[in-house]
Amino acid sequence: MSTLRFQALKESYKHQPISIKENGRRSELFGQNVFNEATMRQYLTKEAFLSVMDATTRGSKIDRSVADHISTGMKEWAISKGVTHYTHWFQPLTGATAEKHDAFFETIGDGFAIEKFGGGQLVQQEPDASSFPNGGIRNTFEARGYTAWDPTSPAFIYGTTLCIPTVFVAYTGEALDYKTPLLRALQAVDNASVAVCKYFDKNVKKVNASLGWEQEYFLIDSSLASSRPDITLTGRTLLGHSSAKGQQLDDHYFGTIPNRAMAYMRDLEHECMLLGIPVKTRHNEVAPNQFELAPIYEEANLAVDHNSLLMDVMKKVAERHHFKVLFHEKPFAGVNGSGKHNNWSLSTDTGVNLLSPGKTPMSNLQFLTFFINTIKAVRENEELLRASIASASNDHRLGANEAPPAIVSVFIGAQLTKVLEELECVTKGKLSPQEKTDLKLNVVGKIPEILLDNTDRNRTSPFAFTGNKFEFRAVGSTANCAKPMTVLNSIVAKQLMEFKSEVDTLIDEKAMKKDDAVFNVLREYIKQSKDILFEGNGYGEAWEKEAKKRGLSNNKNTPEALKVKTLKKNIALFESLGVMNKIESEARYEIEMEEYILHIQIESRVLGDIARNHVVPTAVRYQNMLIENVKGLKEIYGTGFKKLAKEQMSLIEEISDHIEAINSAVTEMTEMRKKANVKSDLGKRADDYCKNVKPFMDTIRYHCDKLELLIDDELWPLTKYRELLFTK
Ligand code: ADP
Ligand code: MG
Repeated sequence: MSTLRFQALKESYKHQPISIKENGRRSELFGQNVFNEATMRQYLTKEAFLSVMDATTRGSKIDRSVADHISTGMKEWAISKGVTHYTHWFQPLTGATAEKHDAFFETIGDGFAIEKFGGGQLVQQEPDASSFPNGGIRNTFEARGYTAWDPTSPAFIYGTTLCIPTVFVAYTGEALDYKTPLLRALQAVDNASVAVCKYFDKNVKKVNASLGWEQEYFLIDSSLASSRPDITLTGRTLLGHSSAKGQQLDDHYFGTIPNRAMAYMRDLEHECMLLGIPVKTRHNEVAPNQFELAPIYEEANLAVDHNSLLMDVMKKVAERHHFKVLFHEKPFAGVNGSGKHNNWSLSTDTGVNLLSPGKTPMSNLQFLTFFINTIKAVRENEELLRASIASASNDHRLGANEAPPAIVSVFIGAQLTKVLEELECVTKGKLSPQEKTDLKLNVVGKIPEILLDNTDRNRTSPFAFTGNKFEFRAVGSTANCAKPMTVLNSIVAKQLMEFKSEVDTLIDEKAMKKDDAVFNVLREYIKQSKDILFEGNGYGEAWEKEAKKRGLSNNKNTPEALKVKTLKKNIALFESLGVMNKIESEARYEIEMEEYILHIQIESRVLGDIARNHVVPTAVRYQNMLIENVKGLKEIYGTGFKKLAKEQMSLIEEISDHIEAINSAVTEMTEMRKKANVKSDLGKRADDYCKNVKPFMDTIRYHCDKLELLIDDELWPLTKYRELLFTK
């Protein structure tokens, strides 16, 4: 009997829901472990408090002497809550979070010790970061990197450690993380949006990008998960025949949350409350054992930090509940994968959501301006947006008939489509008073009512307008949201700058009125970006053909998608905005390509190992049992055995065929890896892995899955899909 699988199953039956004690109402718990405004007022001098607030809202620098006061206050607060260590918390280019803990504890001679945490330690640290990916940045330049405090994301306590969100940069200034370019992109979109807002409201001084992510994930019993080498090493199943029952009955989606999962969610939400992560929504997703968690949206930088922190907390809390969380985009073949919708909007310091239609024609013109500029930005930069969500794991999901295709398009709904059609017909040049009144009353003025009716939401669209925000749905569930958010905010910033300059030119050189100029530029934008609008079924083959005709890209795999990052125009775009220089852009390209290669390489090795060392030996054992059986029949029945042993004999042959197919595919796959590995060009190596190595994984899986159906269940060594997906 296959011991590990059955032991794991036995263990899993013992796992019961573990309920935790919640100390207080959620509103009271919220932010208790965050050095937030209320706590700062209590622990900081007035000067120190104001200087942090100023840094948060206006990005001003914090004076070193003030930093000493802040660190002292932070330390007092943290120690009062039982904290012993502090860490600079950052997000290197692995996409995960990183931390290195130091104790507050310090000796002062003569056997005495104190708790110390100075301004210097708060503001800057130098972790030995030589083992983080850097894409050549630190080879060509100075080898050191440092972390620097980001006061716009508040410090928090996790466990007994004070965590200080930081950026991670090389000594030469290049960003070695995802947060630094994001902060620069947010600054760029802030500046560009404020400038455009001035046409409509002079009081706007700051525009924040908001992000509300929706995190999908699978919860798998930890004993079962660790009985599978593929889940342990790659976060997904590389083989496994689908279960007779999967998601066909649609009985999981929005169903009653299973008790163990519910206990986990409550525990998790409790932790989130303390950490100030405003989680709000939880529900079952489409696949069995798949769930979703969504927060109330926040300022984008904070939301990105919160999502990264959440993913870490989710893993830790899962341990207590004997679960393993799978964030992978496609952990199981044949059932839905997981994504992370990024809901995005822009809002002003005067409290206006620029992507929400307003009450007056003027505010609606402002809405249309931002709405149309976003569409135009996506039209011009669809390939960059596609690249921002490219990864080996997301390749399994995009275009897999459950997730958006690899073609980027924008869905806006029938009513807004009509509004754009009417605006497209606006007269060239100056508008007559009659036309303007008509537009304001009948087109622009009608928008709010229209949107309320706009309930039609196309689930197949990768980038959909949903009433007061755009929803970027192609983001993968493992992604660090900083990547898509950096690109989206950058391209919109760039677009808004161009818009401003075009409108100003019409006003200055053609002596147009502001409204006329805005209408004129928007009309052209609608014409230029129409091709990106698509309301139909994004999963259909017809759309692939149509998109090709329209000249939209369809970069189906990661190597193809990432290549656009090194195009001159794209490097120039980030450079012109001050988001990333050429070195930083190229470094990210290298790191992501390398990551892709390593990802496929690891999966291919793990599958080769499982196929050869787990599946084939099991098949041989079963085959031997059959052979013994046939021999026995022959012994008893003599020549008449053939009729009786017919099925067994054909099974013996079938098994041999599969074994043969597996072994030759594993050998060839290994050869292909060797060939790929010696290619010095990164792009070519990645292409090789994608086109020559990866396909063997499908072949090997196919034969292994066939064997799973043939072989005695008692012998099969790998925990089966039905066990992984239906153990609650
Ligand atoms: P669904 O997309 O599942 O229908 P909702 O549209 O209600 O769900 O919200 C999903 C996410 O969008 C949540 O995280 C929510 O906070 C966020 N969200 C709602 N409004 C905005 C907005 N104006 N800007 C950014 N995110 C938003
Ligand atoms: Mg959504």
